[in-house]
Amino acid sequence: MLRAKKDKIEKILVGIGPKNLEIAISIANLLGKKNISMSEFVSYGKSYMLGKKVRIQEANSYNRNETKFFCPECNSPINVIRITTLKGKQNKRGWKSLIQCVNCTYESYSKMEAQKKIKQLIRLSRRKTNGNSK
Ligand SMILES: [Zn+2]
Repeated sequence: MLRAKKDKIEKILVGIGPKNLEIAISIANLLGKKNISMSEFVSYGKSYMLGKKVRIQEANSYNRNETKFFCPECNSPINVIRITTLKGKQNKRGWKSLIQCVNCTYESYSKMEAQKKIKQLIRLSRRKTNGNSK
């Protein structure tokens, strides 16, 4: 292997312990065998982690909010999720909250803080029940 390449690899591996390296190597081997590219793997990994984060926050928001809001498309409960990723590569438009239906694919991103969004939803749902109820 070229000395320059070796240096580059060593720089990448700074701070990564032997255990993590072992895991990385076995993942790299498997990707090669299954014909999956590194970028495909990375993009899957990112969405997997985002999904995990979302699920945890979903559970939290269930515990915190006794008020339930309902999906405009299927009327199932929706969750307001606080987006903690700051504006940047992974959050290009600077979204601060996400409304997500627990049942269908309805989702709506917002630049409004989650707390404000919840207040807005409360206002809207009050208006609905006061005004249009038949
Ligand atoms: Zn829905």
